[in-house]
Amino acid sequence: MSFVTRFAPSPTGYLHLGHAHSALAAWQAARRAGGRFLLRIEDIDGGRARPEFVAGIQEDLAWLGLDWEQPVRRQSKHMDDYAAALARLDAAGLLYPCFCTRKEIAAEIAASGNAPHGPDGPRYPGTCRGLDDGERRAREAAGIPFALRLDMDSALRAIAGRTLGWTDARRGPVALDPAPFGDVVLARKEIPTSYHLAVTVDDALQGVTCVIRGEDLFEATHVHRLLQALLGLPTPDYCHHRLLTDAAGRRLAKRDGAPTIRALREAGRSPEEVIAMAGMAAGEA
Ligand code: GLU
Repeated sequence: MSFVTRFAPSPTGYLHLGHAHSALAAWQAARRAGGRFLLRIEDIDGGRARPEFVAGIQEDLAWLGLDWEQPVRRQSKHMDDYAAALARLDAAGLLYPCFCTRKEIAAEIAASGNAPHGPDGPRYPGTCRGLDDGERRAREAAGIPFALRLDMDSALRAIAGRTLGWTDARRGPVALDPAPFGDVVLARKEIPTSYHLAVTVDDALQGVTCVIRGEDLFEATHVHRLLQALLGLPTPDYCHHRLLTDAAGRRLAKRDGAPTIRALREAGRSPEEVIAMAGMAAGEA
């Protein structure tokens, strides 16, 4: 089977050195394996994605010397694929509509005095899981917006008895343990999908055999692996690489003023210098 990997940025800003590290790691791995490298634009969040960043990201990657296959998949153009996956999960009885606002969820958690934390934050207390059909229909008819959540207990029952996990290049075999996430949102109120769903569906549809991305997404892989099992999708290998840090040891982030590739380029740095700053060796490794 040929090696296929991808870089999947969200066009909500210009790329910084951490993104360059991920993109280079994936591109070089594809080169080494004689495989394919894909670019995917994760622009499901129409409120935050901007066309100038879509163009700017590609310009910066090309300046760094990367090339990728066409056409570039833009998630915003493939909502039908996510709807089809949601329909399958729904038909299996694994989804429920959640009408809660953020405020209501926070209040419910505060009132319960017991807020188990999952990797995505405090775990949803399950308020809407127990709504009966009549109540659901009434709220939908009243036009109250709703998200779709995965019923984690039902999902775990659906895979009971199977030994599931994935192979992680740095950690070795990892056993699946998605329960700490609780009832994750798979379709948001204002967007008919979510990061977890779109990334899982796309990696499968695009035939990705190895997902290379930062360690900050390691925990999310438990959700992606669970969705693969529920939807009958193949499981790629994963490589969650170390994150670049600044001089104070903090993870590079746009909000802390991590320099963008664009700014470094405009300041006269060469691609080779920027590749070295991103912690990678130039060339095709
Ligand atoms: N779009 C995600 C991000 O920019 C990355 C998704 C992935 O690599 O799985 O953080």
